Amino acid sequence: MPEPYAPALPRTAAPKPYAPDELRALDRAHVWHPYGPMPGRQEPLIVESASGVRLRLAEPVEGRRELVDGMSSWWSAVHGYNHPVLNEAARGQLDRMSHVMFGGLTHEPAVRLAVRLVEITPEPLQHVFLADSGSVSVEVAVKMCLQYWRSAGRPAKQRLLTWRGGYHGDTWQPMSVCDPEGGMHELWSGSLPRQVFADAPPDGFDAEPDPAYTAHLRELIAAHAEELAAVVVEPVVQGAGGMRFHSPGYLRVLREACDEYGVLLVLDEIATGFGRTGTLFASGHAGIAPDVMCVGKALTGGYLTMAATLCTTRVAEGISDGAVPVLAHGPTFMGNPLAASVASASVDLLLGQDWEGEVARIGAGLRAGLAPVAETAGVVDVRVLGAIGVVQLDHEVDMAAATRAAVREGVWLRPFRDLVYTMPPYVTDDEDVARICRAVGAAAREG
Ligand SMILES: *Cc1c(COP(=O)(O)O)cnc(C)c1O
Repeated sequence: MPEPYAPALPRTAAPKPYAPDELRALDRAHVWHPYGPMPGRQEPLIVESASGVRLRLAEPVEGRRELVDGMSSWWSAVHGYNHPVLNEAARGQLDRMSHVMFGGLTHEPAVRLAVRLVEITPEPLQHVFLADSGSVSVEVAVKMCLQYWRSAGRPAKQRLLTWRGGYHGDTWQPMSVCDPEGGMHELWSGSLPRQVFADAPPDGFDAEPDPAYTAHLRELIAAHAEELAAVVVEPVVQGAGGMRFHSPGYLRVLREACDEYGVLLVLDEIATGFGRTGTLFASGHAGIAPDVMCVGKALTGGYLTMAATLCTTRVAEGISDGAVPVLAHGPTFMGNPLAASVASASVDLLLGQDWEGEVARIGAGLRAGLAPVAETAGVVDVRVLGAIGVVQLDHEVDMAAATRAAVREGVWLRPFRDLVYTMPPYVTDDEDVARICRAVGAAAREG
């Protein structure tokens, strides 16, 4: 260990906390929120702290000071908040170093995490790029595929094929493979890369693959093979593009067609990874391995921002044998030791418990608790897969009214479009799962 660092500390007073009204006014005036205008028009709730599955608010809202989190902070906080094991991993690493550059340097936290990811993902995936967010990991995946074909002397292969209804992030290449309807493609037409879109996969995890749709996928890949670098899809669950589930059979079709026509297959497991759909990765439902795979969101148990792009040795060697024999990408915070340490601890925590049992338990609770919601006027579908519950309405949800209805039940939900949905932390107990279901029902009724 280097000498302890003990500089003389300046005697500055801690800043005085903002009163809630003041904080809200400053937030509205200066701080962008996801998909928000400036100044902000919605009133965000102020979270003071979080512990287990509960968010503690700075002031009561609808009579509630604590809310059960039905969203896992957008799929990420699978172990809940303020977890002693993850806190310990963060603190321990903080005392060693929170970050060093990754160019020319390496460290145990990054190597340990990469090795762990290679161990738990499909066997052909052997090489890991540690990125700083999901969108960046998708950018890196696309860059890998384009560069692979360039190196192979096939520079014309630079388009992507995806199916409609997807979501892959908000930076440029990921946006180009988001659903063209919900992905604001019109706003960006002319500047987004123009990709090849198949129809959305038919609904239903348990549905037999539809031969007509299978033929549609194969034909489109065959027709564009000369210009396609990769097929990029979310396996089994399309998340932010509409919370739709499809048959794993279509992934096998994509795998076969990609092999047959010489196209790489990228699976975006950023939302589905780490057990959420009932298998550790959703590709496990299909028993296939992609050429490139992205993980993120639950990777650090929701603690810090980190994602990863894994690829096969064929892809890695293809890139590295090319005219530009390097992968030309290197974010400043690549391999961040703090995030990597927490990520390893989170993966170990997950695998050290009966996560399959917990996900199945929550799924059963969601199925039972959401069944009555199907009777609500305006509800067109209720579906559950793994620890994901979705209620679809026949109208655009009134987000403010639906959120308020859930808060009144003591639950945090964030409905969008025509969907009220939940993916609770795996540590949510049966009583809280039932409470979340009541809140989804209330949001569906009042939204
Ligand atoms: C959230 C998400 C992303 C983007 O990840 P960010 O960390 O928000 O950049 C990409 N793909 C899928 C499937 C996602 O759910």
